[in-house]
Amino acid sequence: MAADRFESAYHGTPPWDIGSPQPAIMRLAETGQITGSVLDVGCGTGENVLYLAERGLAAAGIDGAPTAIRQARAKAKGRGLKAHFEVADALNLSTPDRPFDTVIDSGLFHVFSDEERIRFRDSLGRLVRPGGTYFLMCFSDQQPGEWGPRRVTQAEIRSVFSDGWRVNYIQPSAFETNVGQAHAWLASISRL
Ligand code: SAH
Repeated sequence: MAADRFESAYHGTPPWDIGSPQPAIMRLAETGQITGSVLDVGCGTGENVLYLAERGLAAAGIDGAPTAIRQARAKAKGRGLKAHFEVADALNLSTPDRPFDTVIDSGLFHVFSDEERIRFRDSLGRLVRPGGTYFLMCFSDQQPGEWGPRRVTQAEIRSVFSDGWRVNYIQPSAFETNVGQAHAWLASISRL
């Protein structure tokens, strides 16, 4: 599936683009779980990255949708914040000069097929330093109805990250969207 498959969604305002950071991400930062250099994969228009930059973290974001990245850069400039944004495919990321201490994912993993989840995990392994942590926030199987992305189970998260990673916790959480809240899993997963 193409990395820019969500490009057209950004020609309007997509339901997930709430114009502020996700409260669950803010709580992670407030509780000291997000540390060091941070990359937001599938960062959209950058609210989580800009929130972390404002807190003094070295934060960057990548997304496959050029319009989202353009908007993120414009927000950073407008708010006088330093944050790096780049168009990139999360399934094919090149190895950075220095791997990240923390990677956050607010709504990316749940767009992938089974096969893409494996490619994504392997791509992620090159981005996170050993001992570093990946925070995964995805739609959970507790979310009723059909609306929105594919639901993810705890067992699926554990099976994708069974080898070379340690799942520290998986907690019930929530996404804020422009059409209400949705049940999420928030997982903390460290690279061994
Ligand atoms: N994290 C953002 C956006 C979540 S929506 C927020 O919380 O608002 C999922 C995002 O993942 C979209 O912006 C979409 O463009 C991006 N995306 C989907 N597949 C991708 C891929 N293969 N590589 C990079 N970004 C991708």
